[in-house]
Amino acid sequence: MPIKTHKLRIYPNAEMKTVITELMDYNRFCWNRGLETWQDMYDASRLLDDKKLRPSERKVRDELVENKARWQRRLSARVLQTAIHRLHQAWQNFFNPNMPDAHKPKFHSKRDAKQSFTTDRAKVAGRFLQLDRPLKTTHHFTKIKMAEALRFTGQIKTVTITKRGNKFYASINVLVEDTPRPTFSESWDIGGIDLNVGHINWNGGVVNTFTPRMSALHQRIKVYQKQLNRKRRENPKQFRSKNYQRLQAKLNQTYQQVNALQDDLIHKFSHQIVRDYPVICLEDLNVRAMKMGKDKVKGLQRSLFRRLRTAIEDKAAWQHRQVVIADRCFPSTQRCSRCGYVKTADSYGGKMTLQGDSIYHQHHTYRCYECGFVIDRDDNAVQNLIAYAAGLPPERVTVQR
Ligand SMILES: [Zn+2]
Repeated sequence: MPIKTHKLRIYPNAEMKTVITELMDYNRFCWNRGLETWQDMYDASRLLDDKKLRPSERKVRDELVENKARWQRRLSARVLQTAIHRLHQAWQNFFNPNMPDAHKPKFHSKRDAKQSFTTDRAKVAGRFLQLDRPLKTTHHFTKIKMAEALRFTGQIKTVTITKRGNKFYASINVLVEDTPRPTFSESWDIGGIDLNVGHINWNGGVVNTFTPRMSALHQRIKVYQKQLNRKRRENPKQFRSKNYQRLQAKLNQTYQQVNALQDDLIHKFSHQIVRDYPVICLEDLNVRAMKMGKDKVKGLQRSLFRRLRTAIEDKAAWQHRQVVIADRCFPSTQRCSRCGYVKTADSYGGKMTLQGDSIYHQHHTYRCYECGFVIDRDDNAVQNLIAYAAGLPPERVTVQR
């Protein structure tokens, strides 16, 4: 049975904010103490050349539980357990050859932008979240209001509370029943997606990813970055000044706003296309991303592409849809979607570039040299991706995960 995560905003009152902050501090304490113990045990096993002394999740946890101080009894015991479990996972990921990006676990700091803790005893009822209350606590525990009711039904496994800026969020992991495989009609409906800087084209229309609101936020990011740069130049040694930190906080907040806007767009779009089409075809985005250069603002679009692909693949796997990633060499911009003619550098009007081809110079329009077909260049790309997926024999259509 798969686990699905619902992340939502929560609104704790003042007292519960204190409880949450204490638990985040405690989580950091447990993690750091656990990491220290882990390393000590490892060093000892090396020194004494005894593999039996090697650290494990259980040994480290037992050590920490045994040496609990009196003040720790006022805090949730689950936080210690989950912190050590995550530490164990972090070590496993680090040593896993299939996860080359996994970092070595490192000590957490109070200064880290993201603070969190996890518990496996929280309860959800309607639109309220109830944290597990330790017997010896001095706080008055109340239910915490959630932004919406839980989207999935099933057994709640873990709840992770995070704080970003001054907002609190809960990621609730729910064990859900597998969805039954849908029975599609014989039609082989394909959704094609063409991603561009600023807009996404698909056979259901166009999604604007660079709304006026987004553009205003991008502008703001540019201004803050310039100001921060100037401050660093003028005063390289004291960049921990109040003003500098205030500016950095504003920049981070703006990044979060961009992120939230993008998330909204990503989830709405991927939900729609996965709902409507049994097969979805998109380009390999690494190629697209490489063409985009190093502009900071374009970096934000790059991250949007990556997250969109993940969202589509996850939702597709869940709904038993198929995702086709077009080959890197597939000429989706150069090919005529009606006759299949492909423009090359040698053909008499040249290739399609950002300015269009060398005869018509219409950068929004594709005109075929062969059959004279005229079509919007992005729609042409979408049609080509659909043709690509349709042309593949079914066994070559990869089912994601
Ligand atoms: Zn043509």
